[in-house]
Amino acid sequence: MTRTTTRRCGQCGARAVGGVARAGRLTMYRNLELEVPAHVVVPTCAKCGAEWIDEAAAKALDEALERVYESKLRTRLDAALEKILSEEGSQARVERVLGVSPGYLSKLKLGRRSPSAEIVSALALVSASPKRRLAELDNFYNPTGARKRAAG
Ligand SMILES: [Zn+2]
Repeated sequence: MTRTTTRRCGQCGARAVGGVARAGRLTMYRNLELEVPAHVVVPTCAKCGAEWIDEAAAKALDEALERVYESKLRTRLDAALEKILSEEGSQARVERVLGVSPGYLSKLKLGRRSPSAEIVSALALVSASPKRRLAELDNFYNPTGARKRAAG
């Protein structure tokens, strides 16, 4: 989809900048490379391909990318939690070691809370080796208690 009105391109000088909506455009959004949803219109030079993001395009992009971002975070959250809880049966222990409120992980799982990149990052690291990483974290926060348990 291309708009008929065109503006001059600040990069190549061609009068060829018009709104373009298409699939397959990638962009960095926070810490993830995301595909821009195909319906989002971005002023683009038909000659050199430069994108000229005006205020309207920026707003549309942000709104669309925030939804994609949250969906990607949720996918990663679900995978990490499933792996962790398959090895460490006590969700309460996972919550205690991570320092989040009791029931917080349930709220995330049920979609009552939006996951932050920080909690998803922590869960991703723990999920690589749940029992070992949880023990490391527990020891990090409670070195004395961990030594006592190891000695006893
Ligand atoms: Zn151009």
